[in-house]
Amino acid sequence: MYATTHLIIGAAAGMLTTDLASGFIAGCASHAVADMIPHHDYGSVGWGIVDVSLALGVFHWILKLGYGPPVLAAAISGVIPDLEVVWAYFHPDDYRPPNPKRRLFFPSHSGLLPHGKLDFPLGFIVQAIIAALLLPVLGICLVPSAVL
Ligand SMILES: [Zn+2]
Repeated sequence: MYATTHLIIGAAAGMLTTDLASGFIAGCASHAVADMIPHHDYGSVGWGIVDVSLALGVFHWILKLGYGPPVLAAAISGVIPDLEVVWAYFHPDDYRPPNPKRRLFFPSHSGLLPHGKLDFPLGFIVQAIIAALLLPVLGICLVPSAVL
């Protein structure tokens, strides 16, 4: 799933928490649940840069709205588990059988939990719908109020 989608889901999950630790845990848990939803994953650095840039923009927006540590921690921890996927992308030989030096750790990456897959464009549309539903929950409305 895209970093932007994980960040939005994590932040929304963080709204259900009251402190930094529970926010962090909620974000990580949201990552595992979100990875089970059938979705598209890109496989290039270029799309990664676009995605992370967008995620940083959304995070900045959430910051400007004045959310506290639980939501901010959940937004960040909603994305953090994918750092191991990025690492593996740049070090593929370490993860290839036989006898790989490293294995993916996070349950939805290691195979412990299912990882939903859906080709583009449907896998993109699923994430766009999730974002469109959750951004207003966070107080971020992409449609100008004059249109509503
Ligand atoms: Zn993931």
